[in-house]
Amino acid sequence: MTPRICFTASAFLIHQQQVLLIKHKKLQMWLGPGGHIDQDELPHLAAAREFLEETGLQVAIISALPFSRSSLEESITATSSVVPTDVFHPVPLAVNEHWVCQENFLARQAAMATGTVYQPTKLWSKGCERHLNFTYLARLDGPLEIKPAPGESKEVRFFSQQELVSSLEITLAPAIATEVALAFKLAKKHCS
Ligand SMILES: [Zn+2]
Repeated sequence: MTPRICFTASAFLIHQQQVLLIKHKKLQMWLGPGGHIDQDELPHLAAAREFLEETGLQVAIISALPFSRSSLEESITATSSVVPTDVFHPVPLAVNEHWVCQENFLARQAAMATGTVYQPTKLWSKGCERHLNFTYLARLDGPLEIKPAPGESKEVRFFSQQELVSSLEITLAPAIATEVALAFKLAKKHCS
């Protein structure tokens, strides 16, 4: 039996040489804003939607590599047969697969082996096991007014690269630190 995989998307907004991070309520870790990708939703649009919900900020997703900007709507509504049917989307800066709740996987495995009813943990009641996260770079595309939606984490703030290294208040998970470093590097190339 293999673990379930949820598709998720997140983004790092680099603004004035600082990165916006959010303290995840369940994980109690500082991360880029993000969450589950909905059915039929594109990963980069999920990242922008989650960003807006969790911070109140409108962002534009920046492709880590050049891409063609044709849109699916164009190809569906166009009557001309010359419109390309292929659509290229922004490229994430990383695609990261990780355990989010191994306990759920082990409980589901045990329930299957013993023929008992599987109950996900209360904390991860959707039955999350592993997450495949599309991590994007974002830029601000609206006013800088941080206002998380009701129920979202209130701990949202900007950090400089120096603060992330030296602050005792924040320790990033190694994978997140790697992604943040990559985001700063890409932002220098794309946002300056
Ligand atoms: Zn999940």
